Order: sequence, then structure tokens, then C-alpha cells
Amino acid sequence: MKKVHNFSAGPAILPVDVIKEATQGAIEFNNSGMSILEVSHRGTDFINVMEEARALVKEFMGFGSGYQTLFLGGGASTQFAMVPSNLLQAGKPAAYVNTGVWASKAIKEAKMLGDVNVIASSEDKKFSYVPKGYAVPKDASYLHLTSNNTIYGTQMHSFPESSVPVVCDMSSDIFSRKMDFSKFDLIYAGAQKNIGAAGATVVVVKEDILGKTGRKMFSMLDYAVHIKGESMYNTPPVFSVYVCMLTLKWLKKNGGLAWIEKINDEKAKTMYDEIDRNILFTGTCAKEDRSKMNACFLLTKPELEETFNKMWKDAGISGIKGHRDVGGYRASLYNALPLESVKVLVDVMKEFEKKYADSKVTA
Ligand SMILES: *Cc1c(COP(=O)(O)O)cnc(C)c1O
Repeated sequence: MKKVHNFSAGPAILPVDVIKEATQGAIEFNNSGMSILEVSHRGTDFINVMEEARALVKEFMGFGSGYQTLFLGGGASTQFAMVPSNLLQAGKPAAYVNTGVWASKAIKEAKMLGDVNVIASSEDKKFSYVPKGYAVPKDASYLHLTSNNTIYGTQMHSFPESSVPVVCDMSSDIFSRKMDFSKFDLIYAGAQKNIGAAGATVVVVKEDILGKTGRKMFSMLDYAVHIKGESMYNTPPVFSVYVCMLTLKWLKKNGGLAWIEKINDEKAKTMYDEIDRNILFTGTCAKEDRSKMNACFLLTKPELEETFNKMWKDAGISGIKGHRDVGGYRASLYNALPLESVKVLVDVMKEFEKKYADSKVTA
């Protein structure tokens, strides 16, 4: 198979070893004579996969008892509805920080169920920075944050103090760095960006924040139902959970969050140093808020777009076209992307500058 340098924003690159092991499991799982795709989710073999995945998530977060981990279907987008269903109390508005498209979608869903207070927003500057210095209301049901703004390329490098439960959508930067997870009461993340294959969404919830709304809920939207069912109330996304378990094991074996953070820092520095140095490119976000997962940049001479596109495609690079809302380019630097791939992209950018920096007309 011809390997490309995969900078896709999600579903995204996975470690080669994980793909190999998952492929083996799809052919024959645990010497069972069956594929992982055809075993019962109630059998011991799969229960062990689920339990290992749940345990690894808690281990990376440093959580003990009192927290529950779930692998649910429906994507992070279903969490936009589950969070207010389970946490939004009458007379206590939910506080949201609007940092982009995903946060806006979360706000839209919460508004269906009750009062929402958007306490800070960066919409005034096209979500190109992270709002800071706002106060979190003490009477809020919860505070909702989005740690990494996948589309516009900003990331929260610090988190506000809050006396109310903090919910965080970490879909696009979960386990990319060391952090104090104890600041959060509910964390959710779609698997397809940093920890596995599309289909599963990891949810970690501090149990004592649940059960306070008095709201009747559909069983599938009720965290308590999924907790009681040990993340198997219904058939979980079996293969996706398996790939998550393998990816989490890969992360742990290699040195965990400290190890990956160092690599991710180096990748981001390599990328942004070139964006800032190269006269043919410009970054789109406030420097102090730049995402280490999704680097967004524009051409300073847009007429050279086709020329640049051909160059990176010829170098075996895939997936750097920017989101349609931002245009330009977005290099997603998720955990499984090697530094090597970033260097290939940077070399293409250097070569491009050398050839076309002085061109006055379309090349
Ligand atoms: C991709 C993404 C989502 C949506 O995830 P789905 O699994 O497609 O529902 C939500 N939030 C953030 C921050 C994302 O990056």
C-alpha cells in the first residue's frame, strides 16, 4: 500500500501498528475462529476489550472511583443533546463559551431544553481567538467548553476557574497533551480524530453531577442508563471500541501523554515556524491561541493556489485543504501523524517559496 502523509481533520490518521492489529482482529479475533465483527458484544472476549478501553481512559485522566467512562454511539454531536438533557436544571441557565462551529451547534441543542447563557464568544473575529477573562456565573447548571476548535484552528491552553460543573468537548485534542483532567466533570470526544475509528464517542462523567434535573429522558440519552449497563445498554459500536482500545494501548506503550505531548509540540512548532517565516503563507489565528492539532493558514498570493496544490499532492500529502468556512489550508497534526510528515509539508512550502516568491503573475 502506498502510504500518504495524511493530514485529514477527521476521520484521521491512525498508527500503522493499530491498523495492522485491527485488520488481524477483523480476520480472526483472539484465536476464536471468528472476526471481531461477528462476535457477541456480551461474550467475554469483547467485554474484556470494552473494559480495557474504559480503564485506559480513566488511567490517562488520573481518575479513580466516582467517575464513569462510556463508549457511546451517535458521535460527539449526540452529546450536544445528551449534556443538557442530563444536566440542565430549571431556573439555572447553562453557560456556554462559543469558540466556533462545534460550540455553536452545542448551544443550539441546549437551547431546545432550557435557558442558555453564552458568557463569552469569539464570533466577532471569525473565531480566530479564544475568549478570556470572563466570569462563570455561580448559578449556572454547568459550564460548557470546547477545548480545541477543529475548524478555525484555535485551542484553549488554559481553562477558566469555575464553581459549577465543567463540561468539555475534547473531540479534536483528547489525549494530545498532559492536563489536569480533575478540572472537568464531564468530558466527551468523538473517537475519529485522536483515539480511534469513527463510530464511538468516549464520555467520562463524574457521577455525582447526575440525577439533578428531574427531567424524564429517553433511555438512550440518559447517562445513568448507560452507566448501569456498563456501556452496553445497547449494542455498542464494537469495532470502533476495539480500535480505540488498540490506539489507547499504543499510546500507553509508547510513553503516554508526556511522550505524545513532546512530539505534538515539536510538530506544531515545526509547522507554525514555517507559516510565520515563509512570505507566501500567513496564519489565520491569534498566535497565543493557536491549535497544536489543527494549523490553519492562507496563501499570501491566492493566485498561486493551483500551483501549490499540485506541489503538495505530488509530494504524497493528503487532506490539507481548509474547511469551506475558512478557506486556505488546514494541516491536522493529530497524535498518529509522524513528525516526518510535517517535515515533508514544510519542505514543500520552502520549495514553493523559493520558486514563486518573486512571481508577479500566475505561475
Ligand atoms: C468533529 C467534532 C465534533 C463532531 O463529531 P461527530 O462525531 O461527527 O458528531 C464535535 N466537536 C468537535 C470539537 C469536533 O472536532
